[in-house]
Amino acid sequence: MTDPHDENGRNGRNGRNSRNGPPDGTTPLSTALIHHAYRAPPEWDAIAVGVHKASTVFFPNVKALRERRWIDKSAYTYGLKGTPTSFTLEARLATLEGAEHVILVPSGLAAITLVDLTLLKAGDELLLPDNVYGPSLSLAQHELARWGITHRFYDPLDAASLAQAITPATALIWLEAAGSVTMEFPDLRGLIRTARAQAPQARIAIDHTWGAGLAFNPFQLGEPGVDAEDFGVDIAVHALTKFPSGGGDVLMGSVACRDVRLHDQLAWTHSRLGMGVGSDDVAAVLRGLPTIELRYQAQDLAARRIAAWAQAQPAFVRVLHPSLPTSPGHAHWAALCTQAAGLVTVEVDPAIAPAQVDAFVDALRLFRIGWSWAGPVSLVAPYNPATLRQRPSLYKGQLVRLCIGLENVDELIADLTQALAALNR
Ligand SMILES: *Cc1c(COP(=O)(O)O)cnc(C)c1O
Repeated sequence: MTDPHDENGRNGRNGRNSRNGPPDGTTPLSTALIHHAYRAPPEWDAIAVGVHKASTVFFPNVKALRERRWIDKSAYTYGLKGTPTSFTLEARLATLEGAEHVILVPSGLAAITLVDLTLLKAGDELLLPDNVYGPSLSLAQHELARWGITHRFYDPLDAASLAQAITPATALIWLEAAGSVTMEFPDLRGLIRTARAQAPQARIAIDHTWGAGLAFNPFQLGEPGVDAEDFGVDIAVHALTKFPSGGGDVLMGSVACRDVRLHDQLAWTHSRLGMGVGSDDVAAVLRGLPTIELRYQAQDLAARRIAAWAQAQPAFVRVLHPSLPTSPGHAHWAALCTQAAGLVTVEVDPAIAPAQVDAFVDALRLFRIGWSWAGPVSLVAPYNPATLRQRPSLYKGQLVRLCIGLENVDELIADLTQALAALNR
């Protein structure tokens, strides 16, 4: 390798004719542009993490090719196995999650898929909360069922119902806090105590997207003097698409755990499934991460103001937000958290026709109709409880979920107020 600095202190600006280029300019241009000798000085330091892009990663020699290990993130072997950009985000997310190890995947749903495919085999049973994130259930009903993996439901608000659902075949138990549309906050401690006592063979995973690493620590949920210090889940998945990104412009997920053997098991399955992430997307999440606490707090405060406004509207018979005593599981939320994600669901008076609820949603101007949350733009979507839950009778009216963005709250309330006309017609 030639010295990157030629005698005149130039960094190869002359390309082919400097000492940094190929000798004497006799090398053909195609080769000269690919095997260029210039190396940027290494002492770069700035806020943004470098966007390292690669399928191929070079090895200095055959020994390195044979010996390098990617699984403990001590070296690079292939783009799919990690880059300085992805290892950096994984390390920062481990700090956010209170975990030791994090694996990036292409979406939040891919994170759920990775956990299911790593831990389940034919004959196993999977337990899902009754209010489980819809696509997670769909995966269980189709692919997992086709491969001989069955699933059962439990009531997230009732640890006894989890005890009833457990069998010797139970291999994985999913938790979710709060339910992503109906906002029930489960008794996480009660559910985990039940799972550990009755299904010691099973792993426990939580969809941690709502808590975002901020509202509670799923790896450390024990009550002092009652539970062991490491009392908590085995795995936390996070749709980075939501709060960590915060921009509504990137899809990514993560799988976090504390146990190195569990990490290695997940990492091997991850590598065999080829679930790589692009470095531009990783950089987008790295850019969102420093503001996650501020955004979470701002959207939480805005959502609570909107929840209070909604409680005063006769067209809404119930407002679902874990901070409200009328919201299912409020006491469980209050025992663990002071913060909440910026989501509010309203149950519309059952006397109001579903078509009017649709008209209300259509009449909103600042709230845009769409899936996802935690971006700058407030979002709204109507849900029919009959298609949402195993026990739709819990809800009498149509549901409308509001995901609060970063707009001025008074303007959001004014928008909701003008759209109410469609309900009161
Ligand atoms: C959005 C979301 C997911 C899936 O994330 P994607 O990146 O959209 O696949 C999973 N769980 C919850 C609770 C979510 O809100």
